[in-house]
Amino acid sequence: MTTPTMEWVVSVSYGELILKGKNRGSFIAAVKRHLHHALKGIPVKEELEQFGKLFYVVDEADVERTIAACRRVFGLLYVTPSLRVPCEADAIRNACHFLVQRKLDAHSNKNSVDPLTFKAKVKRSNKAFPLTSPEMARQVGDWMLSDFSTLSVDVHHPELVLSVEIRDDAFVSVDRYSGQGGLPAGSGGRGLLLLSGGIDSPVAGYEMARRGLALGAVHFHSYPFTSERAQEKATRLMEQLERSVGPMRLYRINLVKIYTAIARNCNKKNTTVLSRRMMMRIADRLSERFGYDAMITGESLGQVASQTIQGIHVVNNAAFRPILRPLIAMDKTQIISMARDLGTYDISIEPFDDCCSLFAPDHPNTRPTLGQIAHDEEKLDIDALVEEAMDTLEMIDDKGRVRE
Ligand code: ATP
Ligand code: MG
Repeated sequence: MTTPTMEWVVSVSYGELILKGKNRGSFIAAVKRHLHHALKGIPVKEELEQFGKLFYVVDEADVERTIAACRRVFGLLYVTPSLRVPCEADAIRNACHFLVQRKLDAHSNKNSVDPLTFKAKVKRSNKAFPLTSPEMARQVGDWMLSDFSTLSVDVHHPELVLSVEIRDDAFVSVDRYSGQGGLPAGSGGRGLLLLSGGIDSPVAGYEMARRGLALGAVHFHSYPFTSERAQEKATRLMEQLERSVGPMRLYRINLVKIYTAIARNCNKKNTTVLSRRMMMRIADRLSERFGYDAMITGESLGQVASQTIQGIHVVNNAAFRPILRPLIAMDKTQIISMARDLGTYDISIEPFDDCCSLFAPDHPNTRPTLGQIAHDEEKLDIDALVEEAMDTLEMIDDKGRVRE
């Protein structure tokens, strides 16, 4: 910070979509709630709302992480760091100089000073300010040209856009980051994510939240066959996901009795499909009890042996609610890169197994039919097994508290 009158502000603007229609109020309220959540732990000194934008005043040291946090929130078009200064010529010039200098420093290589093209853009909403927008743009341009010999003007394809917004204060910026777009989480209903501990399911949850679903998650574990670390891993994945999608609740269900019953009574090669059908039945029950409209999985066609069209058909048949599979057509490399962006990848690759890998057959049936599966399920007391599994339910809220 060069002078005490300059303050760093990160502003966010809503997508145009949100500004339309009768849902505007509730959309904006949802975006604000998610921003509030995303900014937890960052000391925001002041929060302002003006002309369809929100402004967060923060210390210079917190600018980067404020931008990163805002960029994770759905329903935002742009995230812009700027300097706020009083609406006075000297103060505005100082702020412009400071930001352009920083850009030039970053642009130049060590031995030479490279030329840079720029354009000054001014938006004046404060009509008390003595210059009009075009006059002020010319003024800013002149200041910079006289301050920096390496700058030249290019109004059509500038390398640097220097923006000055004249409101009650002036806001000066040289960077603008794209937001997530999408719709505010929760504006389109509620989805229950089947969260395994692998790479794919957190990404699947994120994709559906981006389209407006509020998320809950269910994790099926096989304690004591699987370690407590596996359950803890699912909780940490949820916490990381929450940073992007807002508060979630985690439901934990023990599947040991179900796996044991399948292992004792059924054809081993059908274990994956049979257990997945049980998971869906339980997820359906949880959805009914806690008000979710759909289930979400991280399946991707052909990624593993069980993820075939035939497998999907047989699993769908066990559920009443729709099963959303946003990753169905994606490659693993694409999913991995999304998981890295989401910050879940490093947690997902930790080696603690969820239940499936433990009981997984060596040669799963890749073309199961409803007939084969019905034959195996005749040997199981499905209703009793679902009831018993529901009795193991533990709920963890977004504060990490166990509720039931
Ligand atoms: P992931 O990386 O998400 O674990 P995967 O490639 O390992 O997926 P599968 O193990 O076949 O694939 O699981 C497919 C989907 O089924 C998962 O994405 C998840 O939505 C759901 N699922 C699997 N195991 C569990 C579990 N233990 N708890 C909750 N959901 C599960
Ligand atoms: Mg898995």
